[in-house]
Amino acid sequence: MGQIRVLPSGLVSRIAAGECIERPASVIKELVENALDAGATRVDLRVVDGGRELIEVVDDGVGMDADDLALSVAQHATSKIRGDDDLFNIQTLGFRGEALASIAAVSRLRIVSRTRDSDVGHEIWVEGGQVRGPRPCSAPPGTTVEVRDLFYPVPARRKFLRTPQTEMGHITEQLARIAIPQLAVAFTLRHRDRVIHRLEVATDHRERVSGFYGPELAQALLPIRREGTGMLVQGLVGPPAETRSAGKWEYVFVNGRYVRDRFISHAIREAYRGLIDPSRYPVAFIFLTIEPARVDVNVHPTKIEVRWQDSNYVHGMVLAAIRERFLTSPLDHRLRTPQSDEDYRERVRTAMVEFFRRGPVGPCSGTEPRNHGAAEPPSHEGGGAGRLARQSGGCTPGVLPSADSPGPATNRGKGPPPASLAAPACPARPAPVGEPNRPPTDQDESGASLLASAGAAGRRAAPDKAPPRAIQIHDSYLVVQTEEGLMIIDQHALHERLLYEDLRGRIAENKLVSQRLLMPSVLPVPGDRLEVLEAHADLLARLGIELTAAGPHSVALQSFPALLADRVDPEDFLRDLLDVLVEQGGRPDPDTLIHQVLDLMACKAAVKAGEPLNPQQIALLVEQHQRVDRSSHCPHGRPTTLRLSLRDLERQFKRR
Ligand code: ADP
Ligand code: MG
Repeated sequence: MGQIRVLPSGLVSRIAAGECIERPASVIKELVENALDAGATRVDLRVVDGGRELIEVVDDGVGMDADDLALSVAQHATSKIRGDDDLFNIQTLGFRGEALASIAAVSRLRIVSRTRDSDVGHEIWVEGGQVRGPRPCSAPPGTTVEVRDLFYPVPARRKFLRTPQTEMGHITEQLARIAIPQLAVAFTLRHRDRVIHRLEVATDHRERVSGFYGPELAQALLPIRREGTGMLVQGLVGPPAETRSAGKWEYVFVNGRYVRDRFISHAIREAYRGLIDPSRYPVAFIFLTIEPARVDVNVHPTKIEVRWQDSNYVHGMVLAAIRERFLTSPLDHRLRTPQSDEDYRERVRTAMVEFFRRGPVGPCSGTEPRNHGAAEPPSHEGGGAGRLARQSGGCTPGVLPSADSPGPATNRGKGPPPASLAAPACPARPAPVGEPNRPPTDQDESGASLLASAGAAGRRAAPDKAPPRAIQIHDSYLVVQTEEGLMIIDQHALHERLLYEDLRGRIAENKLVSQRLLMPSVLPVPGDRLEVLEAHADLLARLGIELTAAGPHSVALQSFPALLADRVDPEDFLRDLLDVLVEQGGRPDPDTLIHQVLDLMACKAAVKAGEPLNPQQIALLVEQHQRVDRSSHCPHGRPTTLRLSLRDLERQFKRR
């Protein structure tokens, strides 16, 4: 008895606020949705300190009179629905009447509003559950909402806010989800006074996507359209060559509202099945217009999920719309043409100015190929992974010999065909360890002394044994005879580990050779992602990646790690690297971040399953397997090797 208490109303509202206001981006979502429901044609957002200090949303919508303004911050107060019937015919983004009350419960809130037919505006303040006003004031038609000191009454929650940059990442993502389908509305997003996004009114979806993500992506997308009973599917989908490493590039909008829906996701994946690598994600913007009665949007507090009256129908429509397009379009890989010099000069940057003020990327500068390690010869001696093995005076873990002709890196396509791994440069048999780093000699070229210790971490002493015998099967596995029996090696997993260890060693010792690209690759990068690049400038420098400004929404990749240049398309790499950095957030644990980035590099550069290897390459992989620590598992923790002893074999064949 006496254990149950009715909670005070302030606490009740703060608990309720927790449901829909999780972080600054949630405030942005609610306020921008309100502006759109109010018929705004322009919405200007300003954020200070990632939303911790201030979130301000200014719209030119219908506004509120003094009475409505006072009511707007009360719990369950809405102008958008009146009765049960309306719940199944929702035409607005909001309808629960909770957002302003929730925001008011966890911040210092000020709202200024003026209706279009009034000469005077009104303002109210809410702090600690107390409402002051409405008080007349001068204001332009429309509404301005200022949210200060978010979560000040809930310190535990405020503590959970990440760095301003991470919060800005969430805010930008949230803005994309709201703004992309709202073509008739202009948006700006500023962080302090810096413009992160400026979206003019757009005439079609492609123009809007271009405003947000840059013209290169927008132009690559294929339009889809399919009409059915009570439903219209429209959209833009990436050709199969335009994939991403993260699933966030799937944007689904139902009647203008961003949703996550497993039926539509499944339909998208199904449409791409067999066309893209299963570990990659397509880019898709799907806009579904559906009779409100066929969908229930009131199943989730933030309305991010919906319930369909007929999910099979929706699935079928989306799948058919994409498939139809793929059947009628040539799906060849797109040719990337570099921007003209003039474009390049003209597109003066604002966003990365600070970045470059900090000096050139990497410890060396100049137009010659970068040499990040004093002990290594310049990289023009050799253009890539294979030749690096020679120039550093030996084969290094993970570096397989290749047959490419020497010369600086060029911008390559989607990775070389297996043939580029053809000619051997390294012998199968280990040579003495401990050779100092030195420039290559004829002897090196002939492969007599190819195991210097350049930058290799985790190296074990070479076993003094005859080389194991190995064959490749199914172009994917190496079967190796060992003293005890045999082992089966997953060639990709092993090579990934070897490259990972090699990169780790080189970066730790600052010996990663960076190589200048003959033709800089220009890559579109939206404003918020530029901030991410700036934030990780040190890491990029260490990786030997040099970027320069190429416009308000693009960067030019000037230099790239030589070790990867032969095997990895620099643009693809940079795009995936950005996804990794964005997913990691603002100030991630450095170890995790470096691990993830090295892992990405190793995975992209490693030989693939299904790639034929020549006997020397096979021998080299097997030999390095014995010499590198942790070679039993790939960087993801999957085994690289299965072992079977003679004893096991005898047992299986019932000889014992
Ligand atoms: P909901 O959007 O679910 O109705 P909110 O708490 O977000 O609930 O807003 C409460 C009410 O305040 C809205 O129904 C609307 O009438 C009014 N309102 C909020 N923001 C604006 C705005 N920017 N312009 C005009 N009216 C607004
Ligand atoms: Mg609302």
